[in-house]
Amino acid sequence: MTSIDVRDGVPPVDRARREYAELAARGLRLDLTRGKPAPDQLDLSAGLLELPGPVYRAADGTDCRNYGGPRGLPELREIFSGPLQVPADRLLAAGNSSLELMHDVVVQALLAGVPGSPRRWAEEERVAFLCPVPGYDRHFAICERYGIEMIPVPMTGAGPDMDAAERLAGADPAVKGIWCVPKYSNPSGETYGDDVVRRLAEMRTAAPDFRIFWDNAYAVHHLTGEPAGLADLLAACAAGADPDRALVFGSTSKVTLAGAGVGFIGGSPANVDWWLDRVSRRTIGPDKVNQLRHALFLRDEAGLHDHMRRQRELLRPKFDAVERILAAELGGTGLASWTTPRGGYFLALEVPEGCAREVVRRAGEAGIVLTPAGATHPYGKDPADRTIRIAPTFPSLPDLEAAIAGLAVCVRLVGAERAAT
Ligand code: PLP
Repeated sequence: MTSIDVRDGVPPVDRARREYAELAARGLRLDLTRGKPAPDQLDLSAGLLELPGPVYRAADGTDCRNYGGPRGLPELREIFSGPLQVPADRLLAAGNSSLELMHDVVVQALLAGVPGSPRRWAEEERVAFLCPVPGYDRHFAICERYGIEMIPVPMTGAGPDMDAAERLAGADPAVKGIWCVPKYSNPSGETYGDDVVRRLAEMRTAAPDFRIFWDNAYAVHHLTGEPAGLADLLAACAAGADPDRALVFGSTSKVTLAGAGVGFIGGSPANVDWWLDRVSRRTIGPDKVNQLRHALFLRDEAGLHDHMRRQRELLRPKFDAVERILAAELGGTGLASWTTPRGGYFLALEVPEGCAREVVRRAGEAGIVLTPAGATHPYGKDPADRTIRIAPTFPSLPDLEAAIAGLAVCVRLVGAERAAT
């Protein structure tokens, strides 16, 4: 028997309304929007605040206190080279954020073009990006800010629908790029399959300067003992249609201190030279003291993975709680499905078509703030009005449990009200 059947003579909609009234009466103030580390996760990096101490020389003798070193510290680039699948000599350690690097690449492409561009992107009549959906709202916000048209491509559970991506990129020279979060994607948690990576590298694009923005934000953020594998895009591009097609991004924002971490950008020699030339007018070098601090703290790639195992111990109970509560409260109702990520920071909840906004609204009125429905899609519009992004990391476990149980009440309410009309 499901929760929308008539039980004890009480019509489901009445029962759902009573549950909702009880929820609202609790006066909760909970927030499921924030995809950021919880304080106990940040505590794992407390040692960083003591570093680099009196040490200021990098392994090669560089005085980190001074200007220079546009590529970033070699020892830190070495640590992230494997996880980001970029040879260390083509991986640059930059400022405190990968998002700013992605933003700046787009702006520089508009202002100057990228290697292979027939003209500056700003001189094109139209510029469009493929946007796998559901996706990351801040990627979409960059496009929106600069008038780049966004073309949604559905995610399949193993990355974007490549038939659609190939068709769109192959037919339209205005399509200059695609946003990708290839591992433990935001928000579905899925990882791109080998075949998807290969097809991205090999597909014919009508634009000669097409770029894959490979935002590997969750490269080391495993929630299980079995890390998801990801094919090497840069190697596939080198062997495929265009060695310059991919730009790889990553950061330590959700490894160490969000906001005080280190961002990375990498790619082909031509792309790296292009980037170094573009930023040479903007900075005389990155914050090497912060990079040194990170290299001393993480030590090596094994140290990075050890640190992430400690992160996992804190995060896993939260993701397990979400799964347990959703399964208990919504399983078998036909009112919801959700992803069960093996890593990353998010999951996606799907409610019946046309219900997501209403669920978010009712939750908000009951004191549970959710990411606005639609945020997972270009222009903030989910045409099916189905997807809700859940960010379980920041709230405490008891708050998270209360919020997910309350969310389930809202889903049942909206579902029952729809069924009753
Ligand atoms: N990329 C993705 C997919 C994210 O989910 C986030 C943060 O939520 C970022 C980038 C932001 O990264 P950074 O802090 O390095 O700018």
